[in-house]
Amino acid sequence: MPAGTVAREPDQVDVCVIGSGASGAIIASELAHRGLRILVLETGIAPRTGDSLRSMEPAWETAFVRTGGGRLAQTGRPWSACALGGGTSIFAGITFRFREVDFHASPHTADDALDPTWPFRYADLRKWYDAVERAIGVARAHGMDPIEPDAAPPRLPPHPYSAAGALLAESGLRLGMRPFPTPLAINSIPYGGRPACHRCGPCNEHVCPTGAKADAAGLFLSPLAHVEELEVATMSRALRIILASAHQAAGVEWLNLRNHRRHVTRAKVIVLAANAIQSAAILLRSADRRAPRGLGNRYDMVGRGLSFKVSTYLSGYVRHRRNPGIPAGPHSTVSFTDHYLDAEAPLGLGGLIYEASPEDRDVHQGKLKVRLHCLAADQPMPGNRIRLAAAVDADGAARLVIEYRTHTIDTARLRYLARRAEQVLREVGATEISEQESGYQAGSRHLHGTCRAGSDPRNSVVDSWGRVHDTDNVYVVDGGFFPYAGGVNPTFTIQANALRISAEITRRLGAGSAANSAEPAMHPMPTEEGHHV
Ligand SMILES: Cc1cc2nc3c(=O)[nH]c(=O)nc-3n(C[C@H](O)[C@H](O)[C@H](O)COP(=O)(O)OP(=O)(O)OC[C@H]3O[C@@H](n4cnc5c(N)ncnc54)[C@H](O)[C@@H]3O)c2cc1C
Repeated sequence: MPAGTVAREPDQVDVCVIGSGASGAIIASELAHRGLRILVLETGIAPRTGDSLRSMEPAWETAFVRTGGGRLAQTGRPWSACALGGGTSIFAGITFRFREVDFHASPHTADDALDPTWPFRYADLRKWYDAVERAIGVARAHGMDPIEPDAAPPRLPPHPYSAAGALLAESGLRLGMRPFPTPLAINSIPYGGRPACHRCGPCNEHVCPTGAKADAAGLFLSPLAHVEELEVATMSRALRIILASAHQAAGVEWLNLRNHRRHVTRAKVIVLAANAIQSAAILLRSADRRAPRGLGNRYDMVGRGLSFKVSTYLSGYVRHRRNPGIPAGPHSTVSFTDHYLDAEAPLGLGGLIYEASPEDRDVHQGKLKVRLHCLAADQPMPGNRIRLAAAVDADGAARLVIEYRTHTIDTARLRYLARRAEQVLREVGATEISEQESGYQAGSRHLHGTCRAGSDPRNSVVDSWGRVHDTDNVYVVDGGFFPYAGGVNPTFTIQANALRISAEITRRLGAGSAANSAEPAMHPMPTEEGHHV
């Protein structure tokens, strides 16, 4: 049976995973390989080749957000993507590891922010990053990123710079910066049974037509389509978690969107991997007399600390002769971390600048468009949150409200980064430089912090293993776990942490032989194309 359909509607499983995206796919696959019976509920459908953010997004549920005038408008985006594979089905593949500072950023956060300290450090997550990297393959350079954390040697060589990327790198070098190839979960050479990218065009916001990009469903769920233990149910929306007692969840109530029938599947463990906004929503919608404010919400922390990435784009045009020798390249081929720890940036923490090529990379009338993306962590603010609206949607579930305001310090940091990016563009000789706002305030594609990890239930929702404080058997493994959003793209960290948590769930359920192993059980390690050890 192909991943993304459901033959049965199981009444009882070991683990019910809600969401089939970056975190859900990896943890479901890992737990199935440990012999556990898994049901993955996915509200979206399997995207097809040719699908894109633009073609798919109109079908996705919106959330309320504040307009400039303070009114609530239904234009919020509570998704990275609502589809089998989640955001990874259309992501750009940018695959950074968090930096040491991202795990203990309190010297760099505002006094009125929530505590940004993670319950562990980079060194504790490193082996899980390495394991995910072995499974997905990351094309990257070694030793060029000036603040690169320790890691196993790269498996794949970096992608060459695109035409625009090469210009940006040269310009950065002239400014004393240290450009390096953007690390990408896009094959630069064949790896893991997937082909090398042939640079066919826009990969960001698009489904990869070849499988060179590491879509989580293609990588982790499809190979298990024949495995009895794993059931992947698309168009299946988790509505709420049902409690057996004050501290124990009994199962998940979900809706089959094909026939509008409701089901209850009992599970020993429930894993929330629905994205930081949707997982918090499910906890809030699971309120009952034993948890009147929602599951894990005794101290009104579920949904708080919602953080995105503050971000903006700068672009310009350079005179350029068409040169067929230089590849169009994936979406991003060159990055700069020079301002990450820049003492001149407000609070001494800058962020990331990288090439973000437009969809059209052709030379028109002798001009090539060059574009940079500036990205920085935002403060985890208690007032930035998601909450339930009084209004309900077509399935009878409470709609969502995204309450979010950018902290003035983060606005200042973003302005600082934008000025630095503009310098790079000017050095390239770009004209017609303009800024395009990303609109992250209505729901960035980077979602974090709503079920923050920590040891004190008064200011966190889950413990260091992602287990919801008030319950014994409910885990959050998506970006909701993040106490601090970090200054780089989050997916690699989400997956490394989900894999780490899978080992804890395996241990608790007494499954598998090597419950604490950092080797993903299901992935034979490719040595070269077609050969596995
Ligand atoms: C265009 C685009 C480009 C991006 N580029 C990058 C990049 O280059 N690098 C990077 O690191 N990140 C990137 N991201 C962000 C990345 O996609 C997310 O960080 C990542 O997918 C989040 O993983 P997750 O497991 O938390 O959630 P998702 O991957 O979003 O998965 C959550 C899944 O849960 C499902 N779901 C939600 N609610 C329910 C429910 N009630 N019942 C059942 N299922 C439910 C959703 O449909 C979804 O499939 C990009 C995102 C987009 C959209």
